Amino acid sequence: MPLSSVAMASPRNHPAYTGRFAPSPTGPLHFGSLVTALASYLDAKAQGGTWLVRMEDIDPPRQLPGAEDTILRQLEAHSLLWDGQPLYQSQRSEAYVAALEELSHSGLAYPCHCSRQVLQDTGGLHQRSCVPGDLEQPHALRLSVPNNCFIAFTDLFQGRQQQWVKQTAGDFVLLRKDGLFAYQLAVVIDDAYQGISHIIRGSDLLDSTARQVCLQQLLTLPTPVYGHLPIAVNEQGHKLSKQNLAPPVDNRQPGANLLAAMHWLGMQPPADLPATSPEALLEWGVRNWQRTQLPQLIQIPAPAL
Ligand code: GLU
Repeated sequence: MPLSSVAMASPRNHPAYTGRFAPSPTGPLHFGSLVTALASYLDAKAQGGTWLVRMEDIDPPRQLPGAEDTILRQLEAHSLLWDGQPLYQSQRSEAYVAALEELSHSGLAYPCHCSRQVLQDTGGLHQRSCVPGDLEQPHALRLSVPNNCFIAFTDLFQGRQQQWVKQTAGDFVLLRKDGLFAYQLAVVIDDAYQGISHIIRGSDLLDSTARQVCLQQLLTLPTPVYGHLPIAVNEQGHKLSKQNLAPPVDNRQPGANLLAAMHWLGMQPPADLPATSPEALLEWGVRNWQRTQLPQLIQIPAPAL
């Protein structure tokens, strides 16, 4: 099957605005991931759009068994109800393999046997400097990024962005040496497959965006609108994560969590909103969502909940 039909063989017609929340099930949602879920939900619903959930479960070593369900229950407890069925990337291998085959056939993907040591010596920037090796031995597949892949876009929250991909990111990995599909490949294939028109996510991924747009262009897939939110950080200034023991959002106080997330996003919900009703809070949020309210910052401390 030609690549574009693999990526685009979508299960349904896409409305004008389709957004998504795409957690990796490495653990339960914490305040930072709740903020991303909420902002992507509000941006979609404020524009009469569809909001999808996609589980990015293609990295089993980093995943926590059961986290997929925990995340879905957390979203439900906060009335962040997704449209349609969640998509699981673990069930999308065929589409990723088809894309890799197509890229390899057109000379845009190549095998790389480089060791970590070799990569460290090149500063991690890979520009087809590796010695061709035995294809029977474990190897990665890398994208042969064209020299002239210059990507410029206007981020909804962070403004004008630009990057020379080859010179900044190098020939990035599409298939890892351990046989797992790389995030950059899967995200591009699935954003196209699901007809995603708008991507609202954390600024930790701002730097990845040019790579994703470059890959979209090589695969003749559409490029969504991007908006990168500030990142919620702990007292040490580190992004909240499972590794630094960010507490999971507590399903017993969804109203308080949503209010805190709205305040963090620069919104000012009136004091008389029923904090016990997540639906009422979200309804107010959809009516009052303005992209310009968002603080013009890359990181903001998370509140204690
Ligand atoms: N799965 C990624 C994460 O949880 C997000 C990917 C994306 O939004 O593009 O950090």
